[in-house]
Parts: sequence; C-alpha cells; structure tokens
Amino acid sequence: MKEQATIVVMLGAPGTGKGTQAVLLAERLGIPHISTGDLFREHLAAETPLGIEAATYMNKGELVPDEITITMLNARLEEDDCENGVVLDGYPRTLVQALALESYLDSIDEELTMVANLAVPEALIVKRLSGRWMSKSGNVYHAEYNPPKRKWFDDEDGSPLYQREDDKAETVLNRLKIYEAQTLPLIDHFREEGKLVEFNGVGEINDINDEIFEALQ
Ligand code: AMP
Repeated sequence: MKEQATIVVMLGAPGTGKGTQAVLLAERLGIPHISTGDLFREHLAAETPLGIEAATYMNKGELVPDEITITMLNARLEEDDCENGVVLDGYPRTLVQALALESYLDSIDEELTMVANLAVPEALIVKRLSGRWMSKSGNVYHAEYNPPKRKWFDDEDGSPLYQREDDKAETVLNRLKIYEAQTLPLIDHFREEGKLVEFNGVGEINDINDEIFEALQ
C-alpha cells in the first residue's frame, strides 16, 4: 500500500446496508471493496477447502474462525489493487481481527482512516434481510424496497435470483445475537481510539453515502 492510503472499515449489524454503502463508497474513492463474506462465498463457489470449511459456519450464521479469516484477508490486502487503500466490509468482526488488522497496518506504516458504524433498528433489519434476493453477479434486490422487474430474475442478465441460506428469519436472529456478542465490543475499541464515526442507516442510500463520503474529506 502507498503512503496515506485510504483505509475505511464499514461496521454495522447484518442488514444495516453496510455492503451497499461500502460498494458505493469504494466506487467514489476508486479503491477496491473487500467483503470477507463475498470472499468466502467465492471460495465456496470454487469448492476450495477453505470455502467448504467456511460454509459449515456460515450456514449456521456463526463466524468463521479468526485464524482462517485473518489469513485470507491479509493475503487479499497484499494484492496490487489495494495500493491506494480499501473499503472493508464485514471485517473486522471480532476484537482479535481488529487487533490483527491494526498490527498489519502498523507493519506497513499505515493506519485506519475511518471506521464508519451504521445503525438500524433490529425490527427493520429482520425485514430487510428476509426480503433480500441476490443475483450470481452480485446485484442485490429486495422483495419490497427494490424488486426486480421480473420476479425472481436479474434485471441485467436475466439469470435466476436466489435467497441466501443465512438470510432465513431464524438464522438472521442468530447472526444478530452473534453480532451483539462479538462485534459490539469493536465499536467501543474503535471509539476509544478516536476512529469511530456513527451514521444513521435509515434513509436514502445516496444521502447516507454522501454523509460517509463527506466525513472522509
Ligand atoms: P456477510 O456477507 O458479511 O453477511 O457474511 C456472511 C457470513 O460469512 C457471516 O455470517 C460469517 O459466517 C462469515 N464471515 C464474513 N466475514 C467474517 C469475518 N470477518 N469473520 C468471521 N466470519 C465472517
């Protein structure tokens, strides 16, 4: 990574829109969007041993062990396209991962630019996730808020949409419980370090993105 790379962490429970915001922000900044969930799903689609092992945790809504996750993410950060920085989405999710990220950045004379935390009420989160439909190419729809033109096919390439195994209501509740137990302590950690900026995740997607973008300037 170059000196003064922009390194943003998007924090927020599943369903707060952090993925959507991370993609938009990365586009505006011209740096890659890295989602550990997407990396695991890519490994699974390619049937790598890592992907098959990760899926046993993902399907229950549990976190993949830190060691596997940290090794995978650090390898991704070494790639050339990360030279000017990255927007991290879904990473770190535990204190161990946060400390690993900070010590990695320290070792290359970098530091986090900003940790953006998106807040959304729990009832809305469950509604958002259980209505979510995805395309293989990564487009995200919602049965109510952003339906595809034709049920349930991708607007762009017409391929069938699917619902994530871990977006089912009971798994969503488990993911939220895990988020509270393991990821909430991160918020305190980053707040103490003066890196945390809080955003309201309810509202127009582009307005929320403007707020995050402006906070970076
Ligand atoms: P996401 O797409 O971010 O909602 O992630 C989907 C699933 O991938 C999570 O429920 C976890 O099982 C796994 N996962 C993604 N990121 C991490 C991470 N940083 N640490 C551990 N597990 C993760």
